[in-house]
Amino acid sequence: MNKAESQRIAGYLDSAGYQAATSFSNADLVVLNTCVVRQSAESKVLGTLALLKGLKNKHPNLQILVTGCFVDSDTEGLKRRFPYVDLLFKPGDYPGLMSWSQRRCIPVGQEASLPMTFSPCAFIPVIQGCDNFCSYCIVPYRRGREVSRPLGEVICEVKELARRGIKEVTLLGQNVDSYGHDLPSRPDLADLLSELGSVDELARIRFLTNHPKDISLKLIETVASLNKVCEHLELPVQAGDDDILMAMRRGYTVERYRELVHTIRHKVPQMSLSTDIIVGFPGETEGQFEHTFSLVKEMKFDVVHIAAYSPRAGTIAWQEYKDDVPSEVKKERLNKIEALQAGVASKINSQLQGKRVEVLVEGRKKGKWFGRTRSDKLVFFEDNANRLGQLVEVKIGKTSPWALQGEFVDNGDNQTRT
Ligand code: SAM
Ligand code: SF4
Repeated sequence: MNKAESQRIAGYLDSAGYQAATSFSNADLVVLNTCVVRQSAESKVLGTLALLKGLKNKHPNLQILVTGCFVDSDTEGLKRRFPYVDLLFKPGDYPGLMSWSQRRCIPVGQEASLPMTFSPCAFIPVIQGCDNFCSYCIVPYRRGREVSRPLGEVICEVKELARRGIKEVTLLGQNVDSYGHDLPSRPDLADLLSELGSVDELARIRFLTNHPKDISLKLIETVASLNKVCEHLELPVQAGDDDILMAMRRGYTVERYRELVHTIRHKVPQMSLSTDIIVGFPGETEGQFEHTFSLVKEMKFDVVHIAAYSPRAGTIAWQEYKDDVPSEVKKERLNKIEALQAGVASKINSQLQGKRVEVLVEGRKKGKWFGRTRSDKLVFFEDNANRLGQLVEVKIGKTSPWALQGEFVDNGDNQTRT
């Protein structure tokens, strides 16, 4: 979501004639887009703000704008704490950004700006906010309640992006399964995917994040039936123990999650699955952690994002539970799942050795082209021609838990980005 919002802010600034600076020190304007989902992220924000304060002392004309989840409802309090910040605006509050720019005569771009990206992939927020209030999570407090973008607006934006050369869109929401419940005609995500499936120039559609308590059979069947929708789901389980899931207020049990994964794999056998796990939630015993460990072993996820529980002021867990799992134990549990998952992913990815896969080329790193498969695997390959934005075929040679290396297959019909 932050990437999507940064792409959009870059779009505004680009249309006002700004160019990207190479560092803070040679910038006229800095937009700090923040995340505070864990304390470590918030500490980074505070560190960067201290750095910017020093720069502002040297260059008083530097404009500092702060957005993202760091901006809470007490903006006056934040203004007092950080007087050198020129504007604090809530995530997605582009009208607020516009009116500031008009008041200060500092151009930041036009109203209906599109996301700016140098890759063929764009992120499209389709639903903002979250109504779920998982007990550990700060997001609903900082991003507010769910608000869906009208179906027609999303379709128009995707068509325009596709016309400009975007090949892949990722539809975003904290819970994409809630998309449309607040719109007059109550469309759902499956309806939106079906509409976008007929945008000619678009090659791939992705979406994230799903919620295990809300994902529908209709959505799974739509993924199975639409060619352009990639076979990849982000389905955070968070814990493999029913009591912990209850304390997290997730709204499902381990058995329900297991059945769901079974249905998904039955309907779309090639579906790749990613999940999120929090270890060291308040009161998590060794036995409860073992339940999570066993579930990760059993589910054979393609990717697992693991985080150590971080108490967030104002959340239900912060109010009701003591953060009583020592940080060394959290680290130990995190490492244990990471090691397990490295083995699982290594085995899954090794099955791709020798296979030909379709890759959408997103950019270049260390002399190699890189891109992703439909199943969201990162692939690197070498080729002298400019392959940016092309859908190419790559024969996989080396595999690892995190990425694949392969050889470009020249089959004569690789598409060039227009
Ligand atoms: N909406 C998604 C869902 O339902 O899981 C995830 C959004 S959340 C912003 C991203 C991830 O951050 C979560 O899946 C969770 O694993 C992690 N996270 C959120 N709050 C956390 C906390 N207090 N401590 C540790 N990890 C946290
Ligand atoms: Fe946070 Fe839960 Fe909403 Fe995800 S669904 S953003 S974890 S409250």
